[in-house]
Amino acid sequence: MVGPQPSGVPGTLHVVATPIGNLGDLSPRAQEVLRAVSAICAEDTRRSGQLLAHFGIDTALVALHEHNEDALAARIVQRLLAGESLALVSDAGTPLVSDPGYRVVRAARAAGVKVSPVPGACAAIAALSVAGLASDRFVFEGFLPAKAAGRRERLQQLAGETRTLVFYESSHRIVESLGDLRDVFGSERPAVLAREITKLFETVLDGSLARLHARVEADADQRKGEFVLVVQGADEDADARIGDGRRVYALLNAHLPPSTAAKLAAEITGAPRKALYGS
Ligand code: SAM
Repeated sequence: MVGPQPSGVPGTLHVVATPIGNLGDLSPRAQEVLRAVSAICAEDTRRSGQLLAHFGIDTALVALHEHNEDALAARIVQRLLAGESLALVSDAGTPLVSDPGYRVVRAARAAGVKVSPVPGACAAIAALSVAGLASDRFVFEGFLPAKAAGRRERLQQLAGETRTLVFYESSHRIVESLGDLRDVFGSERPAVLAREITKLFETVLDGSLARLHARVEADADQRKGEFVLVVQGADEDADARIGDGRRVYALLNAHLPPSTAAKLAAEITGAPRKALYGS
């Protein structure tokens, strides 16, 4: 039930996915729910207002973003407990996936309120669905750290991961991130770069990390828009090589400068040097 509840019965919090580019991806059920609820909690009310206006939906909007989510959660739960049904949306795609919302969902669930999804677009899943990389097991890593040192450290932690990896990236950092991925995971690791999914300039590029980096670096058009990067997991041998490399590096590092220890450990074990040592 979406409309107001009889007194004493809590409402439902509907977590509604919205399009990531193509407005045709807002499902009929999503439209129905957004029209029927008492209010819609939205990350950016101006942006969601434009989406709603397109569908002729005039439901009230409440701003709910990462800076006020904690403060607002109790008030939202009160409204739900009083019998109002509410919706939660983010700027694009599925709320809570690299987007605000989990605190409100947690608070609603803790209060015994029904939380119900209205599934739809999600950039990570859309990219995975066209990547042609193993998708029976995968890890979603969201955004890599913005600063180079933090990014490389995170990638070193992930270098031996054997499941397919999914990253979000912005146009500002796509070249740097691809460069670091190439250095830490190795030039030949296969990957797929999905850009502007469902939009006019949708592009899905595949190739080794080295080729993808070179392509995006050379072509300014390929650096525009929004990106999901899907990277093949390390093969079991590579995972073992990195493990061996780290053990050899730790031993050599006690007697040699770190860069020399990493170079030798990489030569001895076949692990990518940058997976062992950052600079
Ligand atoms: N909640 C959203 C979802 O379900 O995909 C993700 C929100 S996150 C703040 C925004 C990031 O998602 C972008 O920086 C980009 O990495 C990715 N993204 C969103 N829309 C996209 C699109 N149309 N094409 C490619 N990537 C997209």
